[in-house]
Amino acid sequence: MLKIPENIFEDMAVQAAEEAPIEACGILAGSGGTVEKFYRMTNVDASSDHFMMQPKEQFAAVKDIRNNNMQMLAIAHSHPETPARPSEEDIRLALTPGAVYVILSLMDQSKPDIRGFLIDDGEIDEVEVKIIRGQHE
Ligand SMILES: [Zn+2]
Repeated sequence: MLKIPENIFEDMAVQAAEEAPIEACGILAGSGGTVEKFYRMTNVDASSDHFMMQPKEQFAAVKDIRNNNMQMLAIAHSHPETPARPSEEDIRLALTPGAVYVILSLMDQSKPDIRGFLIDDGEIDEVEVKIIRGQHE
């Protein structure tokens, strides 16, 4: 299970709305299955049906995660107009076995949907994503 604090989920939804109709992307890091930080990435392909993280930003995020003794928990991206299910492109481009792919759908803009998946060689397994409420300080 992947636990995401409500404020981080809101940051992700804001990014997705700002980037739409382009897919937004980012990295979720933390420890023990609980997300502590969201690294917002630039989709260098600026595409509405797939994403490619900006390599320099990705490298800086990985370094920061290591320096803060966190783990990379998931690779996140948005689906501006389609459901929170891996697309054919997502399955084809899922080249990191063991990584959780989190998809945030803005199909219903008033109620963003978020789901997680393990994608390994075309096989898809859903990972439960739980939003932790009341984490505002
Ligand atoms: Zn996708």
